[in-house]
Amino acid sequence: RKGTAVITGASSGLGLATAKALAETGEWHVVMACRNFLKAEKAAKSVGMSKEDYTVMHLDLASLESVKQFVDSFRRTERPLDVLVCNAAVYQPTAKEPSFTAEGFEISVGTNHLGHFLLSRLLLDELKKSDYPSKRMIIVGSITGNTNTLAGNVPPKANLGDLRGLASGLNGQNSSMIDGGEYDGAKAYKDSKVCNMLTMQELHRRYHEETGVTFASLYPGCIATTGLFREHIPLFRLLFPPFQKYITKGYVSEEEAGKRLAQVVSDPSLGKSGVYWSWNNNSSSFENQLSKEASDAEKAKKLWEVSEKLVGLA
Ligand code: NDP
Repeated sequence: RKGTAVITGASSGLGLATAKALAETGEWHVVMACRNFLKAEKAAKSVGMSKEDYTVMHLDLASLESVKQFVDSFRRTERPLDVLVCNAAVYQPTAKEPSFTAEGFEISVGTNHLGHFLLSRLLLDELKKSDYPSKRMIIVGSITGNTNTLAGNVPPKANLGDLRGLASGLNGQNSSMIDGGEYDGAKAYKDSKVCNMLTMQELHRRYHEETGVTFASLYPGCIATTGLFREHIPLFRLLFPPFQKYITKGYVSEEEAGKRLAQVVSDPSLGKSGVYWSWNNNSSSFENQLSKEASDAEKAKKLWEVSEKLVGLA
Protein backbone atom coordinates (compact mmCIF):
# COMPACT_ATOMS: atom_id res chain seq x y z
CA ARG A 1 0.00 0.00 0.00
CA LYS A 2 0.91 3.69 -0.30
CA GLY A 3 2.34 5.33 2.79
CA THR A 4 0.45 8.19 4.44
CA ALA A 5 2.45 11.23 5.53
CA VAL A 6 0.95 14.13 7.45
CA ILE A 7 2.84 17.39 6.79
CA THR A 8 2.02 20.52 8.77
CA GLY A 9 2.29 23.82 6.92
CA ALA A 10 2.31 22.17 3.49
CA SER A 11 0.71 25.23 1.88
CA SER A 12 4.03 26.89 1.05
CA GLY A 13 7.82 26.68 1.06
CA LEU A 14 9.50 23.55 2.36
CA GLY A 15 6.26 21.77 3.32
CA LEU A 16 4.78 22.19 -0.16
CA ALA A 17 8.02 21.15 -1.90
CA THR A 18 8.17 18.04 0.29
CA ALA A 19 4.51 17.18 -0.40
CA LYS A 20 5.21 17.47 -4.10
CA ALA A 21 8.39 15.37 -3.94
CA LEU A 22 6.59 12.60 -2.03
CA ALA A 23 3.49 12.65 -4.25
CA GLU A 24 5.67 12.36 -7.36
CA THR A 25 7.11 9.03 -6.21
CA GLY A 26 3.63 7.49 -6.47
CA GLU A 27 4.29 5.79 -3.11
CA TRP A 28 2.79 8.40 -0.79
CA HIS A 29 -0.53 9.98 0.03
CA VAL A 30 0.10 13.34 1.66
CA VAL A 31 -2.22 14.85 4.24
CA MET A 32 -1.58 18.57 4.03
CA ALA A 33 -2.37 19.88 7.53
CA CYS A 34 -2.89 23.59 6.96
CA ARG A 35 -4.52 26.62 8.56
CA ASN A 36 -5.67 28.05 5.22
CA PHE A 37 -7.66 25.41 3.36
CA LEU A 38 -8.07 27.29 0.10
CA LYS A 39 -4.43 28.36 -0.05
CA ALA A 40 -3.35 24.74 0.45
CA GLU A 41 -5.67 23.47 -2.32
CA LYS A 42 -4.38 26.10 -4.71
CA ALA A 43 -0.77 25.39 -3.72
CA ALA A 44 -1.19 21.65 -4.38
CA LYS A 45 -2.68 22.39 -7.80
CA SER A 46 0.00 24.96 -8.62
CA VAL A 47 2.77 22.37 -8.24
CA GLY A 48 0.84 19.81 -10.26
CA MET A 49 -0.10 17.33 -7.51
CA SER A 50 -2.94 15.06 -8.59
CA LYS A 51 -6.12 14.76 -6.54
CA GLU A 52 -5.61 11.16 -5.47
CA ASP A 53 -2.18 11.93 -4.01
CA TYR A 54 -3.22 14.41 -1.31
CA THR A 55 -5.92 15.48 1.15
CA VAL A 56 -6.08 18.95 2.69
CA MET A 57 -7.17 18.99 6.33
CA HIS A 58 -7.57 21.98 8.59
CA LEU A 59 -5.01 22.53 11.35
CA ASP A 60 -4.20 25.78 13.11
CA LEU A 61 -1.22 25.14 15.37
CA ALA A 62 -1.83 28.45 17.15
CA SER A 63 -4.88 26.84 18.80
CA LEU A 64 -4.63 23.71 20.94
CA GLU A 65 -8.35 23.15 20.36
CA SER A 66 -7.69 23.07 16.62
CA VAL A 67 -4.84 20.58 17.17
CA LYS A 68 -7.25 18.26 19.04
CA GLN A 69 -9.90 18.66 16.35
CA PHE A 70 -7.37 17.83 13.66
CA VAL A 71 -6.37 14.63 15.49
CA ASP A 72 -10.06 13.63 15.80
CA SER A 73 -10.75 14.36 12.13
CA PHE A 74 -7.65 12.46 11.08
CA ARG A 75 -8.72 9.43 13.13
CA ARG A 76 -12.14 9.53 11.48
CA THR A 77 -10.59 9.25 8.01
CA GLU A 78 -9.36 5.79 9.12
CA ARG A 79 -6.16 6.33 7.24
CA PRO A 80 -3.10 4.84 8.88
CA LEU A 81 -0.46 7.33 10.00
CA ASP A 82 2.95 6.23 8.77
CA VAL A 83 4.97 9.46 8.94
CA LEU A 84 4.35 12.77 10.71
CA VAL A 85 6.30 15.83 9.58
CA CYS A 86 6.16 18.82 11.94
CA ASN A 87 7.18 21.54 9.50
CA ALA A 88 4.97 24.63 9.94
CA ALA A 89 6.49 27.70 11.55
CA VAL A 90 6.05 31.39 12.08
CA TYR A 91 8.89 33.89 12.27
CA GLN A 92 8.35 37.48 13.38
CA PRO A 93 11.80 39.08 13.35
CA THR A 94 10.61 42.68 13.13
CA ALA A 95 7.69 42.57 15.57
CA LYS A 96 7.99 45.17 18.32
CA GLU A 97 5.35 43.54 20.49
CA PRO A 98 4.55 39.86 20.94
CA SER A 99 1.36 38.30 19.57
CA PHE A 100 -0.33 35.36 21.20
CA THR A 101 -2.00 32.06 20.33
CA ALA A 102 -5.62 31.22 21.18
CA GLU A 103 -4.50 29.95 24.59
CA GLY A 104 -2.36 33.04 25.17
CA PHE A 105 1.17 31.76 24.48
CA GLU A 106 3.70 33.93 22.62
CA ILE A 107 2.99 32.99 19.01
CA SER A 108 6.37 31.69 17.72
CA VAL A 109 6.96 29.26 20.56
CA GLY A 110 3.20 28.63 20.86
CA THR A 111 2.90 27.61 17.20
CA ASN A 112 6.29 26.12 16.34
CA HIS A 113 6.84 24.26 19.61
CA LEU A 114 3.71 23.92 21.78
CA GLY A 115 1.27 23.26 18.91
CA HIS A 116 3.58 20.61 17.47
CA PHE A 117 4.32 19.21 20.93
CA LEU A 118 0.64 18.46 21.50
CA LEU A 119 0.15 17.23 17.95
CA SER A 120 3.07 14.81 18.11
CA ARG A 121 2.02 13.46 21.49
CA LEU A 122 -1.57 12.87 20.36
CA LEU A 123 -0.54 11.31 17.05
CA LEU A 124 2.03 8.97 18.58
CA ASP A 125 -0.73 6.41 19.21
CA GLU A 126 -1.72 6.53 15.54
CA LEU A 127 1.90 5.96 14.51
CA LYS A 128 2.11 3.02 16.92
CA LYS A 129 -0.92 1.40 15.27
CA SER A 130 0.47 1.63 11.74
CA ASP A 131 1.93 -1.52 10.21
CA TYR A 132 4.21 0.46 7.89
CA PRO A 133 7.75 -0.96 7.85
CA SER A 134 9.52 2.34 8.63
CA LYS A 135 7.41 4.69 10.74
CA ARG A 136 8.89 8.12 11.31
CA MET A 137 8.27 11.37 13.15
CA ILE A 138 10.23 14.33 11.86
CA ILE A 139 10.50 17.76 13.42
CA VAL A 140 12.12 20.40 11.22
CA GLY A 141 14.99 22.08 13.07
CA SER A 142 17.29 24.89 12.07
CA ILE A 143 20.87 25.97 12.08
CA THR A 144 19.81 29.27 13.66
CA GLY A 145 19.09 27.56 16.97
CA ASN A 146 22.51 25.95 16.97
CA THR A 147 25.07 28.21 18.57
CA ASN A 148 27.89 25.87 17.47
CA THR A 149 27.52 27.26 13.93
CA LEU A 150 28.32 30.60 12.35
CA ALA A 151 24.66 31.28 11.53
CA GLY A 152 23.66 30.35 15.07
CA ASN A 153 26.02 32.98 16.44
CA VAL A 154 24.34 35.92 14.76
CA PRO A 155 22.65 37.83 17.60
CA PRO A 156 20.16 37.51 19.16
CA LYS A 157 21.28 33.98 19.99
CA ALA A 158 18.95 31.21 21.05
CA ASN A 159 18.96 30.62 24.79
CA LEU A 160 16.26 28.91 26.84
CA GLY A 161 17.93 29.79 30.16
CA ASP A 162 16.27 27.94 33.03
CA LEU A 163 12.86 28.01 31.23
CA ARG A 164 11.40 30.38 33.82
CA GLY A 165 9.38 32.36 31.26
CA LEU A 166 7.90 29.20 29.76
CA ALA A 167 7.12 27.80 33.20
CA SER A 168 5.24 30.97 34.09
CA GLY A 169 2.99 30.60 31.04
CA LEU A 170 4.72 32.57 28.25
CA ASN A 171 1.73 34.85 28.25
CA GLY A 172 3.37 38.26 28.45
CA GLN A 173 2.38 38.84 32.08
CA ASN A 174 5.71 37.79 33.47
CA SER A 175 7.47 37.35 30.17
CA SER A 176 6.77 36.23 26.63
CA MET A 177 10.23 34.67 26.25
CA ILE A 178 11.24 31.18 27.39
CA ASP A 179 14.22 32.49 29.37
CA GLY A 180 12.11 35.15 31.04
CA GLY A 181 13.82 38.02 29.17
CA GLU A 182 12.62 40.97 27.09
CA TYR A 183 10.55 40.17 23.99
CA ASP A 184 12.59 39.66 20.82
CA GLY A 185 10.79 38.11 17.85
CA ALA A 186 13.92 36.75 16.12
CA LYS A 187 15.11 35.13 19.34
CA ALA A 188 11.67 33.67 20.04
CA TYR A 189 11.85 31.86 16.67
CA LYS A 190 15.36 30.53 17.37
CA ASP A 191 14.31 29.41 20.85
CA SER A 192 11.30 27.60 19.32
CA LYS A 193 13.65 25.73 16.96
CA VAL A 194 15.84 24.67 19.90
CA CYS A 195 12.64 23.34 21.51
CA ASN A 196 11.87 21.41 18.29
CA MET A 197 15.31 19.76 18.32
CA LEU A 198 15.18 19.00 22.06
CA THR A 199 11.68 17.50 21.68
CA MET A 200 12.82 15.21 18.88
CA GLN A 201 15.62 13.84 21.09
CA GLU A 202 13.34 13.44 24.11
CA LEU A 203 10.80 11.56 21.97
CA HIS A 204 13.64 9.33 20.80
CA ARG A 205 14.77 8.62 24.36
CA ARG A 206 11.26 7.93 25.63
CA TYR A 207 9.67 6.08 22.73
CA HIS A 208 12.07 4.80 20.11
CA GLU A 209 12.81 1.43 21.70
CA GLU A 210 9.25 0.75 22.77
CA THR A 211 7.58 1.78 19.49
CA GLY A 212 10.22 1.30 16.78
CA VAL A 213 9.31 4.77 15.47
CA THR A 214 12.24 6.75 14.04
CA PHE A 215 12.47 10.27 15.44
CA ALA A 216 14.55 12.72 13.42
CA SER A 217 15.23 16.40 12.87
CA LEU A 218 17.04 18.20 10.10
CA TYR A 219 18.42 21.41 8.79
CA PRO A 220 17.52 21.39 5.10
CA GLY A 221 19.81 24.32 4.16
CA CYS A 222 18.98 28.00 3.88
CA ILE A 223 15.83 28.22 1.73
CA ALA A 224 16.13 31.98 1.43
CA THR A 225 13.11 32.36 -0.87
CA THR A 226 10.27 30.95 1.28
CA GLY A 227 7.44 32.82 2.94
CA LEU A 228 9.25 32.48 6.26
CA PHE A 229 10.88 35.84 5.65
CA ARG A 230 7.64 37.57 4.64
CA GLU A 231 7.66 39.79 7.73
CA HIS A 232 11.25 40.89 7.32
CA ILE A 233 12.13 44.38 6.04
CA PRO A 234 12.18 44.70 2.21
CA LEU A 235 15.94 45.31 2.00
CA PHE A 236 16.59 42.08 3.89
CA ARG A 237 14.27 40.15 1.59
CA LEU A 238 16.10 41.57 -1.43
CA LEU A 239 19.64 40.85 -0.23
CA PHE A 240 19.19 37.64 1.76
CA PRO A 241 18.90 35.18 -1.17
CA PRO A 242 22.01 36.43 -3.08
CA PHE A 243 23.91 36.70 0.23
CA GLN A 244 23.16 33.05 0.98
CA LYS A 245 23.85 31.99 -2.61
CA TYR A 246 27.19 33.70 -3.17
CA ILE A 247 28.64 34.55 0.24
CA THR A 248 27.71 31.83 2.73
CA LYS A 249 26.92 29.28 -0.01
CA GLY A 250 24.29 27.82 2.30
CA TYR A 251 21.49 28.59 -0.15
CA VAL A 252 19.25 25.79 -1.27
CA SER A 253 16.22 25.97 -3.58
CA GLU A 254 12.76 25.06 -2.29
CA GLU A 255 12.75 22.09 -4.64
CA GLU A 256 16.10 20.76 -3.40
CA ALA A 257 15.13 21.31 0.26
CA GLY A 258 11.86 19.43 -0.40
CA LYS A 259 13.82 16.50 -1.80
CA ARG A 260 16.01 16.49 1.30
CA LEU A 261 13.06 16.38 3.68
CA ALA A 262 11.41 13.73 1.48
CA GLN A 263 14.56 11.62 1.96
CA VAL A 264 14.20 11.88 5.73
CA VAL A 265 10.58 10.73 5.28
CA SER A 266 11.23 7.70 3.12
CA ASP A 267 14.85 6.92 2.26
CA PRO A 268 15.85 3.58 3.83
CA SER A 269 19.37 4.90 4.48
CA LEU A 270 18.01 7.73 6.65
CA GLY A 271 16.07 5.51 9.02
CA LYS A 272 18.23 6.00 12.11
CA SER A 273 16.46 7.49 15.13
CA GLY A 274 17.61 10.43 17.25
CA VAL A 275 19.54 12.04 14.38
CA TYR A 276 19.76 15.68 13.24
CA TRP A 277 20.40 15.47 9.48
CA SER A 278 22.24 18.02 7.38
CA TRP A 279 23.57 18.09 3.84
CA ASN A 280 26.93 18.95 2.31
CA ASN A 281 27.24 21.34 -0.62
CA ASN A 282 27.21 18.34 -2.95
CA SER A 283 23.84 17.37 -1.41
CA SER A 284 24.98 14.28 0.46
CA SER A 285 23.38 13.81 3.87
CA PHE A 286 25.28 13.41 7.14
CA GLU A 287 24.50 13.15 10.86
CA ASN A 288 25.18 16.60 12.22
CA GLN A 289 26.22 17.71 15.71
CA LEU A 290 23.82 19.85 17.71
CA SER A 291 24.92 22.74 19.93
CA LYS A 292 25.45 22.18 23.66
CA GLU A 293 22.04 23.58 24.54
CA ALA A 294 20.17 21.84 21.70
CA SER A 295 21.53 18.47 22.88
CA ASP A 296 21.22 19.02 26.64
CA ALA A 297 19.28 15.99 27.92
CA GLU A 298 18.43 17.60 31.26
CA LYS A 299 16.95 20.62 29.50
CA ALA A 300 15.05 18.38 27.09
CA LYS A 301 13.44 16.58 30.04
CA LYS A 302 12.54 19.82 31.79
CA LEU A 303 11.16 21.30 28.57
CA TRP A 304 9.05 18.18 28.10
CA GLU A 305 7.58 18.43 31.60
CA VAL A 306 6.85 22.16 31.43
CA SER A 307 5.34 21.81 27.94
CA GLU A 308 3.11 18.94 29.08
CA LYS A 309 1.62 21.21 31.73
CA LEU A 310 1.06 24.08 29.31
CA VAL A 311 -0.75 21.97 26.71
CA GLY A 312 -2.82 20.16 29.33
CA LEU A 313 -1.23 16.70 29.11
CA ALA A 314 -0.06 16.66 32.73
P1 NDP B 1 6.95 29.19 4.95
O1 NDP B 1 6.56 30.43 5.64
O2 NDP B 1 7.01 29.17 3.46
O3 NDP B 1 6.02 27.99 5.41
C1 NDP B 1 5.54 27.91 6.72
C2 NDP B 1 4.26 27.11 6.72
O4 NDP B 1 3.77 27.06 8.07
C3 NDP B 1 3.16 27.74 5.87
O5 NDP B 1 2.50 26.70 5.20
C4 NDP B 1 2.26 28.37 6.91
O6 NDP B 1 0.91 28.46 6.53
C5 NDP B 1 2.41 27.37 8.03
N1 NDP B 1 1.91 27.90 9.31
C6 NDP B 1 2.27 29.03 9.94
N2 NDP B 1 1.53 29.19 11.06
C7 NDP B 1 0.69 28.14 11.12
C8 NDP B 1 -0.34 27.76 12.02
N3 NDP B 1 -0.67 28.50 13.08
N4 NDP B 1 -1.01 26.61 11.78
C9 NDP B 1 -0.71 25.86 10.70
N5 NDP B 1 0.23 26.18 9.81
C10 NDP B 1 0.92 27.32 10.01
O7 NDP B 1 8.38 28.83 5.57
P2 NDP B 1 9.42 27.63 5.28
O8 NDP B 1 8.91 26.71 4.27
O9 NDP B 1 10.74 28.26 5.10
O10 NDP B 1 9.45 26.93 6.71
C11 NDP B 1 9.16 25.58 6.90
C12 NDP B 1 10.04 25.01 8.00
O11 NDP B 1 11.41 25.08 7.61
C13 NDP B 1 9.95 25.75 9.32
O12 NDP B 1 9.94 24.79 10.38
C14 NDP B 1 11.22 26.56 9.38
O13 NDP B 1 11.64 26.79 10.71
C15 NDP B 1 12.16 25.60 8.68
N6 NDP B 1 13.38 26.17 8.16
C16 NDP B 1 13.36 27.09 7.15
C17 NDP B 1 14.54 27.60 6.67
C18 NDP B 1 14.57 28.60 5.60
O14 NDP B 1 15.66 29.04 5.25
N7 NDP B 1 13.44 29.00 5.01
C19 NDP B 1 15.83 27.13 7.20
C20 NDP B 1 15.72 26.15 8.24
C21 NDP B 1 14.53 25.69 8.68
P3 NDP B 1 0.35 29.64 5.56
O15 NDP B 1 0.70 29.17 4.16
O16 NDP B 1 -1.12 29.61 5.83
O17 NDP B 1 1.04 30.90 5.95
